[in-house]
Amino acid sequence: RADVLTIGEAMVTVRCAGPLRLGGDSRVSTAGAEANVAIALSRLGHTARWTGALGNDEPGELVLRTLRAEGVLTDHVVRRADAPTGLLLRDVAAGGRARVHYYRRDSAASTLSWNEVRPAVEAGQAGLHLTGITPALGPAPLEAVVAAARRAHRSGAWVSLDVNHRSLLWSREEAARALRPLLPYVTVLIASDDELDLVADGDGERDGVAALLDAGVEEVVVKRGAAGASYHDARTSFDVPARRVPVVDVVGAGDAFTAGYLSGRLDGLDAYGRLERATLLGAASVACAGDWEGLPTRAELPALALPDGETLR
Ligand code: ATP
Repeated sequence: RADVLTIGEAMVTVRCAGPLRLGGDSRVSTAGAEANVAIALSRLGHTARWTGALGNDEPGELVLRTLRAEGVLTDHVVRRADAPTGLLLRDVAAGGRARVHYYRRDSAASTLSWNEVRPAVEAGQAGLHLTGITPALGPAPLEAVVAAARRAHRSGAWVSLDVNHRSLLWSREEAARALRPLLPYVTVLIASDDELDLVADGDGERDGVAALLDAGVEEVVVKRGAAGASYHDARTSFDVPARRVPVVDVVGAGDAFTAGYLSGRLDGLDAYGRLERATLLGAASVACAGDWEGLPTRAELPALALPDGETLR
């Protein structure tokens, strides 16, 4: 039995320092929101299982090797001989803005089915973590995610959903239609402030949060990048500022933040403690290159909470 099961697409990333069209040196790693969360949780000492479908190819081997090296359980991962592992190219556009190019259409993960993820869900978990990315990959993954949420919820597990809207994969209308049926099973909903209206009607954040709590969601966490985050449940609402850190790479901050929140939940921390750990992990991800490489282990956690600017001696 795992503390947390996550289901999703993990890909190989190739990172270029400048515009891809100019070529030059690049760095190969792995990415995938759910896999990032699994790695972050595992580093914090929780038992995390990741499942999904990978190609029977060299990128698939890199993904598996990375997850295993990080202590993530991969015992239910599906391999396909007839479809590749997805690929994500990252470069820097003119003006210095980070840019992504997906090669994930017809990837192994795009046909992930409920039958394929079912054994992982039936292996048992305290919590199931989902994102709005996997359901965008195709009808089969959408069905798989909804069925997994239903099954986990019925078994007494909590379910967390990070809305994670990806406009390159689907429209806001499509995302709203697909994600709203998940809400009856969702315990913890995490969204950026501009994603709330995908899952809740109402004018503005207050109405959106109220609608989610009315729909049975127990905890709503709103991410605002460098402006921090907010927490809402039936009894309380509060804001937490982000920590001030040098910004090296903002990609992956949301996944790190989510993992920090879920880790706090697994440890039985109160809402302030959960948000504090989430904020520490978000900041750690921003301050290091890579989606997950700079995430802390459990032993490193206290040092992250030191006042800004203090040296480790
Ligand atoms: P992504 O999808 O790129 O991973 P996101 O949009 O889901 O990110 P953000 O809102 O950017 O998530 O970040 C999540 C949390 O990480 C924030 O609430 C904050 O606590 C922390 N964070 C993000 N950006 C910064 C920053 N520049 N400095 C410090 N902390 C940050």
